[in-house]
Amino acid sequence: MSKYDVIIIGSGLGGLSCGATLSKEGYHVCVLEKNPVPGGCFQSFKRNGRLLDTGIHYIGSMDEGEVLRQYFTYFGILDKLNIRRMDEEAFDRIHFEGKDYDFAMGHERFVETLARQFPKEKEALRNYAGMLRQTGRTIDIEQLKNGRFSTGAMDYFSISAWETISTITKDRILQQVLSSPTLLYGGDQDTSTFYHHAMITDSYLRGAYRFVDGSMQVVDALVDVIRQNGGTVLTGAKATRLYLNEGRIHSVEINNEEQIESKYVISALHPLVTMQMIEKTPLIRKAYLSRLSGLPNSYGLLSVYLIQKKNSTLYNNRNLFLYGKDNIWYNTLHPEETKIHCSLVTMQPSSVSEKHTEVICLMTPMYMAELRQWKDSTPEHRGEEYKQFKEAKAQEMIGFVAQWYPEINQHIEKIYVTTPLSYRDYTGIPDGSAYGIMKNYRRPLVSIIPNRTRISNLYLAGQNLNVHGALGVTLTSMLTCAELLGTEYLAKKVGNS
Ligand SMILES: Cc1cc2nc3c(=O)[nH]c(=O)nc-3n(C[C@H](O)[C@H](O)[C@H](O)COP(=O)(O)OP(=O)(O)OC[C@H]3O[C@@H](n4cnc5c(N)ncnc54)[C@H](O)[C@@H]3O)c2cc1C
Repeated sequence: MSKYDVIIIGSGLGGLSCGATLSKEGYHVCVLEKNPVPGGCFQSFKRNGRLLDTGIHYIGSMDEGEVLRQYFTYFGILDKLNIRRMDEEAFDRIHFEGKDYDFAMGHERFVETLARQFPKEKEALRNYAGMLRQTGRTIDIEQLKNGRFSTGAMDYFSISAWETISTITKDRILQQVLSSPTLLYGGDQDTSTFYHHAMITDSYLRGAYRFVDGSMQVVDALVDVIRQNGGTVLTGAKATRLYLNEGRIHSVEINNEEQIESKYVISALHPLVTMQMIEKTPLIRKAYLSRLSGLPNSYGLLSVYLIQKKNSTLYNNRNLFLYGKDNIWYNTLHPEETKIHCSLVTMQPSSVSEKHTEVICLMTPMYMAELRQWKDSTPEHRGEEYKQFKEAKAQEMIGFVAQWYPEINQHIEKIYVTTPLSYRDYTGIPDGSAYGIMKNYRRPLVSIIPNRTRISNLYLAGQNLNVHGALGVTLTSMLTCAELLGTEYLAKKVGNS
C-alpha cells in the first residue's frame, strides 16, 4: 500500500493548486484524477485539429500587482503561460435593448466609460466601482503580506447582489447593464450575494486575460510543479471509497480495487459527493448530509463551439454578452426556462494566427430539467434523440446570436455542443452545475462550506466552498492548505514571492 502525506482527490484547479502548494512546501502528495487527462474544467480538448476549452474563457486579477498573478508567481508557473490581455477599453461588451455598453479595465476607466452613456449616474457608478474595489481589497496582495488571505468579506456576503445594484442606481437600464456578470456566476436575482457579484466583476477590472492556445497550459504547468517536487498525479484513478479508522480517514480506495494511505486527505469534489464516499459514521450526521443535498447548485451551461474555417474570422479581443429580454437575470431556483434569451460569445486566441480565431464559443444557461429524459444515460450512449436535441439547440443559439451578428454562421467548419450532462459525467459535478453550490445572502453561513470537516484529517477544496472560477478556486485552495501549513506562514510566503 503506497503511503503519502496527502492524497488530493480531483485534478481540477482546486486539486492541482493544493497539490502544487503542498508539494512545494515539502509534503509528499498524490493527486487522483478519474479521467485519463487531468484538469477538470481547465482541460482543453482537440476537435477538428483545433483546441477547445472546457470551462475557462477568461480570467481576472492578472495585471501586475494583482492577486491571481501573485498566486501564479508563487506556484512558479507565471512565466510558462501564454496569455493575452483583453481590450482594456472594452473587455466585455453588453448588448441590451438595442444599445452596446462597454466594461473597461481599471475602476476609473470603467466609471468614465459607462458615465458617457449614463452621465446623470456618474456618482452612482463611482459608488458601485468603490464597492467592487473594496471587495477586491479583502483578498489583495496587501492582505497576503499582512499574513492573511481574506478579511472583512462577510459584510458583502450577507447583502443581495440585485438589491445592492438597484439601490445604487434607479436607472432601469444601468441596473441591468451592471447585472450582466450574473452569467459568470449563475446569479439568481432573489438570493445571490453581492460578494460573489463583486468578486467576479472586480477581478476582471483588475486585468482580464485569455489563454492563447487554451487553459490546459495551467494544468500542464501545475502538474510539472507537483512532479518536480516529488509528488504524483495519477490519472484514470477514481476515488471510490474513503475508509475510516478511529475517526480519521485511513485510506482511499481507487477504482474499487487498490487502497492507498495518507496522513491527510483533501477532496476537491462537490462536498456531497465526497461525503457519499465515506462509510457510515456518527461523525457525518444525517442532518449535515441533508443540508448538503438541499443546497441548490448553479445552472449548467450549454456550450456551442463553432470551429471556424482557417483564416476566415477576425479575432475579437472582447466578450459579447447578448440579452434578448428586459430582465437579464435567470431565476435559478425555478428552472422551467428553456428558451434561449442570452448568450455569452467568446473567441479563443491561437498562436497559429494573431489576426484570426479558430473557435467561437457561444454559451447560455441550461438546467438539468431540460435534459430530464437523458438523466440516466452515459456519454456515447444517449441515443439519436439527444443528438437531434443538441443540433436543434445549436441552431437556436446561432439564430439568437445572428439577430446581432448575421455573419455568425458564415465561416463555420464544424459545430460541437456540450450540455450540463457532459459536465456532470466528465467532472462528476451534481446537476452538471457550472459554478457549484449557490451562495445565498440570506443564509450565508449555511451556503458557505468550511474547508474543515468533522473528520479531523479530511479537508475540502474546489469551487463549491467559497467562490468558483480561477480566482475563487485558487483562493479556496490556499485556505485549505493553510489548515496544514498555517495561515500567516503561507499568506506571507505567497505575498512575498
Ligand atoms: C462552461 C463553463 C465556463 C466557465 N468559464 C469560466 C471562465 O471563463 N473563467 C473562470 O474563472 N471560471 C469559469 N468557469 C468556472 C471554472 O471553470 C470552475 O469554477 C473551476 O474550474 C472549478 O475547478 P474545481 O477544481 O473546483 O472543479 P473541476 O474543474 O470540476 O475539477 C474536479 C475534478 O475532479 C475529478 N473527479 C471527480 N470525481 C472524482 C473521483 N471520484 N476521483 C478522482 N477524481 C474525480 C473530475 O474529473 C475533475 O477533473 C466556467 C465553468 C464552466 C462549466
